[in-house]
Amino acid sequence: MTSTMVMQSMLLGGEWVTSERTIDVIDPKNAEVIAKVPAASVEDVKRAIEIGIEGTKIAASLSTHERISILTKAANWIEKRHDLFADTIAKEGSKTIREARKEVSRCIQTIRLSAEEARRLHGETISFDQMPGSEDRVGYYYRFPIGLIVAITPFNDPLNLVAHKIGPAIAGGNAVIVKPATVTPLSAFLLAEAFMEAGLPKKVLSVITGNASEIGDELVTHPAVRMISFTGGVNAGEAIAKKAGLKKLGMELGSNSPCIVLEDANLEDAVEAITSGSFWAAGQNCLGVQRVYIQEGIYETFTNQLVARTKQYRVGDKLLEETDMGPLITEKEAIRVERLVNDARKLGATCLCGGERFSAYYMPTVLTNVPAESEITREEIFGPVVLLDCVKELDEAIEKSNAVQYGLQAGIFTNDINQAFRAIKSMDVGGIMINDSSDYRIDAMPFGGVKQSGLGREGVQFSVHEMTEPKVVCFKLSKYS
Ligand code: NAP
Repeated sequence: MTSTMVMQSMLLGGEWVTSERTIDVIDPKNAEVIAKVPAASVEDVKRAIEIGIEGTKIAASLSTHERISILTKAANWIEKRHDLFADTIAKEGSKTIREARKEVSRCIQTIRLSAEEARRLHGETISFDQMPGSEDRVGYYYRFPIGLIVAITPFNDPLNLVAHKIGPAIAGGNAVIVKPATVTPLSAFLLAEAFMEAGLPKKVLSVITGNASEIGDELVTHPAVRMISFTGGVNAGEAIAKKAGLKKLGMELGSNSPCIVLEDANLEDAVEAITSGSFWAAGQNCLGVQRVYIQEGIYETFTNQLVARTKQYRVGDKLLEETDMGPLITEKEAIRVERLVNDARKLGATCLCGGERFSAYYMPTVLTNVPAESEITREEIFGPVVLLDCVKELDEAIEKSNAVQYGLQAGIFTNDINQAFRAIKSMDVGGIMINDSSDYRIDAMPFGGVKQSGLGREGVQFSVHEMTEPKVVCFKLSKYS
């Protein structure tokens, strides 16, 4: 075990506590144990919730300037330790060091945006006198905190997706309990440390580690929890929604995003964006490009260029500057991707490059002629595999794009504004990028999906909105006023 990465405590309402039972944190590069973290028990969860209930009052009583100050100090603390954060992401997860650095910069941005949004938590006046009989009433609504939030996060952005929960929760005056993915808890602990160092009052934040199979039910069913903000796969999202009972749900789920490339597109740009969008974080990216529909006149040229670009990808040690793609999060995940590709090949798919696995690594893979009935066209691959399909025209591409249960984001490459607008109107997604791949996001924009890709929207301003409720105030005036 490396000495610098051992982190054996979890944060229970401002106190770092250990537990007898631990979980190994494993570097997928070589399956080495890099840290041990507590395996929280149901009793620990109950304690976190009790502390969180007290934390709601403390969080709600923080003034706007105190919230802004804490969030700004946390962002500054992270900025000063940019390398430590990037190193942690790259070691515990799949990302290369270059990808990890981008995530740290985005996390700082997310927390700074949260500080700004704390300032903008506005209500508005209400014209009560629009209702006959209410001429003597004036009033307004303002936004108040929802209370105790449970935030459950996935492994693929182990820092910024946690920041997308904690930042808006604090901006809105809430207490929050984070349960990070069991395979990548270290970045979440570092982020929690930033908030403690920034002066966040104890009891407002807990970060507990433990397997969802053991502690998940207690976290999501407890009646004191007023909101579950979940980011992860559709199966887990559905299981949580069924159990949660009457509480608010934010669901950021998976997808198998489409991109359309029309004959008038700038091919060089399309190839570059689609390669990056397909293989970013070894394809473990909710926005990652999975299905590409290419108009027939450019199909061959586009395919050749994409395959050539893919073959240039350097796969290997995440910590080396020159590496373009690291391993999947576990060998088990790489085996799952291998099975999906092999099943598609058995049904007639052609593998143009990649298609090989070694340990947790799966080579960037381009498939074509993939039968519509194969699992890989319908489900989320969450691995470095992209499917190419030749279409006659835009309508066929749109129809195929929409023929899945997901709808997070999409991309279309065209210089024809009318074609772009047709796609904008007809594609069932939460976001569509014109002349870019589905894999584009800034932390300030509304982000989320339709169909099985989710419920509600994240993006700091929108999360703060979801994490607060409007309270109406109405004054009945006396006839003398
Ligand atoms: P996952 O298996 O669904 O797990 C996500 C989190 O949920 C983990 O912390 C997990 O805990 C917990 N969890 C699982 N089942 C639970 C249950 N029944 N009750 C309570 N908690 C439960 O997802 P993942 O493999 O970490 O991440 C990949 C998925 O996340 C992909 O589908 C991806 O598309 C999606 N994702 C979506 C977005 C978005 O913004 N839309 C962003 C990133 C990722 P354990 O780790 O202990 O199992």
